[in-house]
Amino acid sequence: MAKITVPTTISDPPAAYPAEWEQDAVLKDGGTVRIRPIVPDDTDALAAFVQNMSTQSSYFRFFRVKRELDAEELVAFTDLDYRMNMAFVAIVDGELVGVGRYNAIPGDTVSAEIAFTVADAYQGMGIGTLLVFRISAYARALGIERFRAFLLADNHAMMRVFRNAGFPLTRDIDEGVYTVDIPTEESEAVMAAEGKAEQIATAASILPLFYPQSIAVIGASRNKASIGGRLFNNIINADFMGPVYPVNPKTAIVRSIPTYSSVKDIPGRVDLAFIVVPAPLVTDVVQECADKGVKGVVVISAGFSEVGETGASVERNLLEIARGAGMRMVGPNCMGLLNTDPAVNLDGQFGPIMPPKGNVAMSSQSGALGLAILDHAAQLGIGISTFISVGNKADVSGNDLLLFWEEDPNTDVILLYLESFGNARQFARIAPRIGAKKPIIAVKSGRTAAGARAASSHTGSLASLDTAVDALFTQAGVIRVNTLEELFHVASLLSTQPLPRGRNVGVITNAGGPAILAVDAIESHGLHVPKLSDELQAELRSFLSEDAAVANPIDMIAAAGPAEYHRAIQTMLASDEIDALIALFIPASYEGVADTATAIRRAAEESETGKTFLSVYLNSSGVPSELASTTAKFPIYSFPESAVMALRSAVEYAEWKEKPVGKLVRFDDIDRDGARAVVEAASAGVDHDGVWLDPDDVDAVLTAYGITIPRSVVVHSADAAVEFAEHLPTSVVLKVISPSAVHKSDVGGVVLDVSGREAVTEAYNQVTSVVEDVEGVLVQEFISGGHEILIGMVEDPNFGPLIVFGLGGIFVELIGDVAFRIHPLTDLDAREMITDVKSARLLEGYRGGDAGDIEAVIDALLRVSALIEDLPEVFEMDLNPVKVGTPGAGVRIVDARIKVRPVEGTWIPSRTDLPSRL
Ligand code: ADP
Ligand code: MG
Repeated sequence: MAKITVPTTISDPPAAYPAEWEQDAVLKDGGTVRIRPIVPDDTDALAAFVQNMSTQSSYFRFFRVKRELDAEELVAFTDLDYRMNMAFVAIVDGELVGVGRYNAIPGDTVSAEIAFTVADAYQGMGIGTLLVFRISAYARALGIERFRAFLLADNHAMMRVFRNAGFPLTRDIDEGVYTVDIPTEESEAVMAAEGKAEQIATAASILPLFYPQSIAVIGASRNKASIGGRLFNNIINADFMGPVYPVNPKTAIVRSIPTYSSVKDIPGRVDLAFIVVPAPLVTDVVQECADKGVKGVVVISAGFSEVGETGASVERNLLEIARGAGMRMVGPNCMGLLNTDPAVNLDGQFGPIMPPKGNVAMSSQSGALGLAILDHAAQLGIGISTFISVGNKADVSGNDLLLFWEEDPNTDVILLYLESFGNARQFARIAPRIGAKKPIIAVKSGRTAAGARAASSHTGSLASLDTAVDALFTQAGVIRVNTLEELFHVASLLSTQPLPRGRNVGVITNAGGPAILAVDAIESHGLHVPKLSDELQAELRSFLSEDAAVANPIDMIAAAGPAEYHRAIQTMLASDEIDALIALFIPASYEGVADTATAIRRAAEESETGKTFLSVYLNSSGVPSELASTTAKFPIYSFPESAVMALRSAVEYAEWKEKPVGKLVRFDDIDRDGARAVVEAASAGVDHDGVWLDPDDVDAVLTAYGITIPRSVVVHSADAAVEFAEHLPTSVVLKVISPSAVHKSDVGGVVLDVSGREAVTEAYNQVTSVVEDVEGVLVQEFISGGHEILIGMVEDPNFGPLIVFGLGGIFVELIGDVAFRIHPLTDLDAREMITDVKSARLLEGYRGGDAGDIEAVIDALLRVSALIEDLPEVFEMDLNPVKVGTPGAGVRIVDARIKVRPVEGTWIPSRTDLPSRL
């Protein structure tokens, strides 16, 4: 990320142009708007903008009709200090179409006056809202807490923009002028409004890709074996509802359809163009599509960023062209997309398989796997709504698709095959919201690099390569699976059945062995096979053979036929003793298989009890068509373990959905400025590797955030140590301060629990004798008893700060029993981190041991998260150990290390930043 200077307070001198605040966003019509800070060169554009304003807009803006800004005004409006005065302009197709500005109110550093205007022709497209979000985010970063806007009473449009932006405004009317007070604070309402604006605009821009009214295939070929030939044939064979235009300057006819030599020659409009031409020709072709006004392009051609830097620069150029034209681009290097909705019938991919229609949407980052996926889906009878291979993701990303599918009525389940995250923070922000509406199931291959660098702290070494992704998925409710096979197992359950309401599972079988496997799997996945009540057992017994077992699992033995299966399934599904039912069917002979399969299907489809039903058909000759009819509304597995694995995922997802949403906690007792001063001073001039804070600074920062430390002092003589010790009611601990003693106790640099002149002096001499580079000695209050825990933080390059919790000692070192979460933590995240760690049961007073102050641990975790939010210089932190007292006694951090580096004004977007397509 480029380094720029972001002003930190509005009283600072003028700032340099804050390039990091430039943003491209999608408009409702799929076009792109660039929002960027105003520059002096904008004077001409601004003059023209004001001149072209309608009478009404001008009246609203200036409270009189103003047609011209004089030279002085123009300078005043464009040459800003980016602090006291700030403006963002909105640029569409190179034209200035909107301005939003604030002017800080002199003598009042916490509020500013805000005003903005959007050209008449561009109103209602979301530009005003984007400007408000942008300018309020900027103001917030500077510590401006409130905006004041003056609006004429009949300026409803502007009032609506403020309201849509989710700001809790208060207003006052005086002589027809409203004074609107707007806190810039990022409330939940503001975040929700931003999310909604982003969703609507992105989904609208993606729509032409899946619902084009007309298609061009550039590179359509007569050669049926070529990619251009296969793709074109697929589109024709699937009966696409609109016109399809083959474009190929070298061939007059493809599949009896006359070709055009350029997309520009096509007489009608073209919504979507597939590009299947050699890489060197792609740029020109994309430019022609832009000129033609095409809304979306799918670049199948390969040879771009995947082959190296030259290709990457061509790819960036393609993106520029597409963005400049308000055109969305899929790929390059992808296999296309398809939409089974009969309103379009779009098979825009070059593989041989069009999967059955259904409610599962899928995005794949790998083209080759995409083919396998479609094949697999077709075989398993998983119905697809839309499928897209995103290739290099130069423009259209998994996040865009999630935003589209969020409100897509044809999609109930979302599958993602991910190799990398483009914008992990955006994913983290949107996935929980979308996942609460429809399940997101993801296979993440490849590994991220959190722990790749040499770890210099416990936290660093604990963060494995995959930690961040796991943490992200846990927090976002994304169902993570390890293989494509599991992806489909879970998808076939979630796309057909209601979510389980609990963990109790019934098992019906006609053979004992497989049922034992199923029960073992169920228990080992943390689900239960409850013993059925006497009444239910009696009911089952009334129609099953005497030899049948009816306690659960229900073994109807080999004699069971269609009637037994039908009635047993219905009986079980009607009972409240189970939440899910797995029916195993092991055909003993070929005879009667079809009838039993039909009975199972009928029984499952007829009962509408809201229970989750899964079937397992254990046989090498495949699933009988009676069971797997395309209208079947339940999953069929070949092995009990697969069914149980899918059920477990569904249970966990259902439990995640039921959970209340956590809250970000704000603390009122924090000395932000004090901590900031310490961290800025310590990190000034330091290189990128950073530096560990001095013990005094560590104490100052932790104390500023209300994170409790023992009473302590740094001394340089034994006498000073003794003096401090004598003033304490407790005994003390002495620790050497030395750059070479990273783990102080390992080298004999820590002496615990001493008191009295003699012992303290001896301890002082001991700890100063073990290293050469003694810088001082830390004398600390001795905290007796209590559990020892670890709280830490390490920064992941893609996901931002990760926070870790674990119990101290061997649990951390040996077992790695820790929980990671991505910052920021909600109150629930913090609580869950503790329940996720198995050994943390010790804090509950396990087996007669002392209980720990769990609430104080949660409070400490949340305060660490607050610290990280405010101090981006902090990039690694180890509170190890934290001593946890008995409930009510709080926690004490007895050893803490904090690593900082300058951020040089790097704007680190928070997860609430940027409703953008980037
Ligand atoms: P290091 O991690 O560099 O070896 P610590 O400061 O963590 O040094 O001290 C080592 C161990 O000594 C701690 O893990 C803890 O068990 C114990 N300890 C350190 N400070 C105190 C204290 N003030 N009160 C009680 N025990 C302490
Ligand atoms: Mg330690």
